[in-house]
Amino acid sequence: MGGKNVPTAVRNRPRLFVTLTAPSFGPVHRAGERCRPRRDGGACEHGRPLGCGTEHAATDPLIGQPLCPDCYDYNGHVLWHAHASKLWDRFVIDVRRRLASSVGLVQSGFADHARLSFARVAEYQKRAAVHVHAVIRLDGPDGPTDEPPAWGTTDRLTDAVRASAGRVLVRTPYSPSVGEIVFRWGAQLDVRPLHADSAGSGDDAVAAYVAKYVTKGASETGAGTDHKVTTRADIDTAPVSEHVRTLMRTCWRLGGLPEYASLRLRTWIHSLGYRGHILTKSRAYSTTYAALRAERAQHVGHTEIPGAVTDSHWRYVGSGHTPGAALIAAGVAEDVAINRAAAAESSQPGGGAV
Ligand SMILES: [Zn+2]
Ligand SMILES: [Zn+2]
Repeated sequence: MGGKNVPTAVRNRPRLFVTLTAPSFGPVHRAGERCRPRRDGGACEHGRPLGCGTEHAATDPLIGQPLCPDCYDYNGHVLWHAHASKLWDRFVIDVRRRLASSVGLVQSGFADHARLSFARVAEYQKRAAVHVHAVIRLDGPDGPTDEPPAWGTTDRLTDAVRASAGRVLVRTPYSPSVGEIVFRWGAQLDVRPLHADSAGSGDDAVAAYVAKYVTKGASETGAGTDHKVTTRADIDTAPVSEHVRTLMRTCWRLGGLPEYASLRLRTWIHSLGYRGHILTKSRAYSTTYAALRAERAQHVGHTEIPGAVTDSHWRYVGSGHTPGAALIAAGVAEDVAINRAAAAESSQPGGGAV
């Protein structure tokens, strides 16, 4: 009996839950113990305190707002949104490249040995900066039903992800007024192996892990807008925080500069300059995508049929207000379903993959 006849279920795949954060654009108020304690006080050049000793309640509208809006790098924040998808693309390419080179493969030969699959979601943090959650999985060359090569271990994938996350960068177009900004992922990289290692308790562990994110998203729902924002007047009347309004104004202002024309910032004011896909996945994560897109569209008040939903319908509706956890849940649930099917197949007398 060849190895192909024994389903090595997807449970054995190296699978990581990765969070890639946005860089810092300046200190913002945060929840938790004490916001931003500073022993020696001090003020910025605008006369605002550099620290904050408050213990903000979880519902405090100050959370996510800059300590000093005049110090805060609004240009950087908006331009980050305009480049985050490109940075993600470079990250994925670099992970593949690193995996290949770590086992002595040329990059072009990678696809003959393994396939890197992912499901990712862009999510707004409290400071209204997009960060990325993703499930990254390593399969054999034929995808989820194919076992990864022997070298395809969780440790090797983790090393590649960590190295790539720290290394990839993207440059903004040069602007006489803004200059050139080089973006990397923020320092708070989170990489965790996901274990769905049996049809029993392992599944529960994954479910509990994912549920934590679902709960977090639901409880942190913020107020926002689903209004159309296409003019300066729309920005002035949008029911958003001053922080978000300033981000919108920054989209408007930078969007008028010829060097940023390709970023179409005035078209993407509603998403604060982020024009990428909110939900993306590689081919292997396919079954639940359409459903999630439909759910997301409903979530923000649209009722189009799923096939008609495009990312241009997506709006900034507040931080922590996210279908992201659902996507991650679905990505994992899909794996778990394949595991169960494989386990059922292999437990039948004379069974096995066809
Ligand atoms: Zn504070
Ligand atoms: Zn200041």
